[in-house]
Amino acid sequence: MTTETRDMVVVGGGTSGCFAAATAAQKGLDVTLLERKSEEDGGHIACGDAIKGKSTFPDVIDRDYLREESFTNENIRRALFMNPEGENYDIPFRDGNGAVVDRKRYGEVLLEEVERVGAEVEYNTVVKDIVQNGRVTGVTAIQKGKPVEYEADVIIDAAGALSLLQDKVDFDGTNYDTNVTYQQFCSAYREVIEVPEPVDYDDAIVFKPTEKLGYLWYFPRTSTEINAGLGFQMNKPPMELVSVLKSDLENQPEFDGAKVKDKLGAALPTRRPYDSAVAPGFMSVGDAAAHVNPTTGGGIPGAAKAGHWAAEVATEAISEGILDESALWEYNHRVQTDFGKKFAAMDLYNIFGGAHDMEELTKIVTALPGEMLIDLMGKKGAVSMSLPAKVKAAVVTALETRGHWSTLREAYRVNQLAADLKEIYNDYPTTPDGFESWKTRRDELMDEVYEVTGAEPKY
Ligand SMILES: Cc1cc2nc3c(=O)[nH]c(=O)nc-3n(C[C@H](O)[C@H](O)[C@H](O)COP(=O)(O)OP(=O)(O)OC[C@H]3O[C@@H](n4cnc5c(N)ncnc54)[C@H](O)[C@@H]3O)c2cc1C
Repeated sequence: MTTETRDMVVVGGGTSGCFAAATAAQKGLDVTLLERKSEEDGGHIACGDAIKGKSTFPDVIDRDYLREESFTNENIRRALFMNPEGENYDIPFRDGNGAVVDRKRYGEVLLEEVERVGAEVEYNTVVKDIVQNGRVTGVTAIQKGKPVEYEADVIIDAAGALSLLQDKVDFDGTNYDTNVTYQQFCSAYREVIEVPEPVDYDDAIVFKPTEKLGYLWYFPRTSTEINAGLGFQMNKPPMELVSVLKSDLENQPEFDGAKVKDKLGAALPTRRPYDSAVAPGFMSVGDAAAHVNPTTGGGIPGAAKAGHWAAEVATEAISEGILDESALWEYNHRVQTDFGKKFAAMDLYNIFGGAHDMEELTKIVTALPGEMLIDLMGKKGAVSMSLPAKVKAAVVTALETRGHWSTLREAYRVNQLAADLKEIYNDYPTTPDGFESWKTRRDELMDEVYEVTGAEPKY
């Protein structure tokens, strides 16, 4: 077996891996990204293709080039919620337009950019195992049919949801989050469909609840090319994704005579970000550390940021020559006090939603006036801090929801707990020392969430 030595090795050439490798190369590290797919297939990843815009991405690649090449629709101004029980809801974006991308081209450009800024990309390289001796020191892989070993100061695990690498690392004696089960994931599937006539929602990302808790989406890449997909929580009975999507599309007149151009499915995390995603010489980023909004499934922004921050922190640790958990911990702190707290708070709504059936939730939503619903979602769709007054108003106004008041009261309490949880995440410790007591505080709040919602503990 040949052995190669690098400062950093990144496993996985998706969004998180590309931003990790590009950042490390820009900082002067000798970095190689290993991707199991062929160069031709690089970037072909299951996705809904919706993003906020180019500001989503750290400035370590040519973002204008990325935009020109892959942003096929930059005119997304609203989220449209199709309500099977009645009135649809339109939620306008308050801070600029969103975009839908051609995910394959987007992925190709990222990989091109990684090489342009000085990292090496090795395709057809399937990482099989970890090399470790108290800390992770490398990986073994099959590269174009031949075994190869890469030694490195830091291995970045960007191998996506349910990453194989995490089964191989010995996490004993570290705080790495191993409390991960498949029930905390969603199985999702999407098709790219060409429709004969332009749709009238080419300025919207469209969501529609499915019978089991989850949703179906139509994201217009252009007015005639739609990314349509759906998913189900793996703690619920499995759904026949392909046939449910097919029968939904058959009932939508705009899909009459449509052609399917591409089909792909994958698992994605619908849980809070890993409590800690570092171990000596090892850091997980993106889907591999659950950096996904657990209510929308949006994972591209978290993956890009996480990859960037992990590489920044790793570069510093490598230059100091200290690669233990403490040296890499700052990465955890950045994630948890940034999007980590928001995703952990959103996760409470998943837990709440999972404890109720979709029909009841839809009835409540139908009964609430549209404006109030928009208000309840707060700015940018996040949990608003001034919710109590709004929720009180909702309870008063929503007389039609008689019979569901206890659920509304629960929602109100979950809102409060979500705000409290964010405060706890603001206090995420800056070193591993404070981690146990921080976790105790957070878990006490989670116990209250389970008590209020009656949900089975998720963690
Ligand atoms: C159906 C679906 C729809 C989605 N829709 C959206 C959306 O509209 N907007 C949004 O923001 N997010 C969406 N997401 C989530 C988003 O796609 C992910 O969060 C994001 O791609 C995560 O990036 P990543 O780099 O961490 O992982 P991935 O993109 O999964 O990349 C992992 C890479 O690692 C490689 N790899 C894995 N194992 C190995 C190995 N052993 N050796 C070598 N290479 C390996 C894979 O081939 C892959 O290239 C969706 C996800 C799914 C499944």
